[in-house]
Amino acid sequence: MVMTLEKATNILVRSLTPNRPYHVQWMITRKCNYRCKGCGVWRGQDVEELSTEEIKRGLDILKELGVIEIVLSGGNPLLREDIDEIIEYASRFFITTVYDNGSMATEKIDALSNANLVAISIDSLDPRKNDYIKGVKGAWKKAMQAVEKLHVDGVRVSVTPTISQFNLYEIVDLTNYFLQKGIPLWYCLYSYDSSDETSQLFRIGKKNDEFVITDRRAMVKLCDSLIEMKRKNSNILMTTKILESVKNLALTGRRTWKCRALQNFFIVDHLGRVAGCHLHNPVASIFDLPKVWNSEEFNVLRKVYSECTQCTYLCYIFYSLHGSVHGNLQIAKEHWKSAKLFLKRNSLKPLSLVKQQ
Ligand code: SF4
Ligand code: SF4
Repeated sequence: MVMTLEKATNILVRSLTPNRPYHVQWMITRKCNYRCKGCGVWRGQDVEELSTEEIKRGLDILKELGVIEIVLSGGNPLLREDIDEIIEYASRFFITTVYDNGSMATEKIDALSNANLVAISIDSLDPRKNDYIKGVKGAWKKAMQAVEKLHVDGVRVSVTPTISQFNLYEIVDLTNYFLQKGIPLWYCLYSYDSSDETSQLFRIGKKNDEFVITDRRAMVKLCDSLIEMKRKNSNILMTTKILESVKNLALTGRRTWKCRALQNFFIVDHLGRVAGCHLHNPVASIFDLPKVWNSEEFNVLRKVYSECTQCTYLCYIFYSLHGSVHGNLQIAKEHWKSAKLFLKRNSLKPLSLVKQQ
């Protein structure tokens, strides 16, 4: 996929225009072939989903709203038969990240070559531990093979472990392992949905005592280690700011950020329903968004969400900390020495780096 001059310019303009929802996570399917212990998605699968044309229409709307980055997740988004078409269409306009649990990437490599980043989830270097978390035997082997294959084939792939009490003490080793192979890492933080099922869009994180981080001191140490490692290796895709914020949270229990749900970011589900995050009720259909984005009702909700401290999902923290013009520039500054990395992850890809097919 060619990153055209038009796309690069368009994204640059959108990322520097204030008061836009920069990031959207679109859970395009609720089907999943894994049974992860800390996840509620597979427990509530739904065969209903938007059609290809509806998704494309939704993407057009997001482009008009000024969104610059789309994360396609699920369920497993690669289970959709039309995933090739969706990724190709999304990547024309957006920095497009696609999630996979490692089971499908190898066979969808052509489709994934159009994405800006493929995030593959591997939680441990120990196959048994990883497969226990995923609830599927052989998951580790498949995911490792997928990362290797994508990397060798020139598809930009990252490993995305979910940090929990279960793997807390091995995250540094896991990070070093992939850094040595030149593979970037992005992290998730185990979190679970604490709200009442009827008052949220759908459930993702399921409470599991094995995963709840209890050793806060080790979490602080891990953040320090990652900050230190990041100084030497920009393939750690987390920003220092987010690592500092998570460290501070573990240390003091206090947040250094306000949630920016429905401002900097929002989510869309498999039926096209929009919510600030998955822990709150849907507030619109994606097709009605242009009418309601600047409404008083949305402004009221933004205020409510900005005071919310209900979750610690790392992607939402990231979007809250960085999803603004100022935040975009901060990331740019931090990654200046490795502009390639920033631009690939955050969209301002220089034309000299344009990948030709
Ligand atoms: S965490 Fe992802 S891969 Fe695992 S069951 Fe949930 S949706 Fe599927
Ligand atoms: S803190 Fe933000 S992302 Fe988390 S539940 Fe509250 S509104 Fe949603």
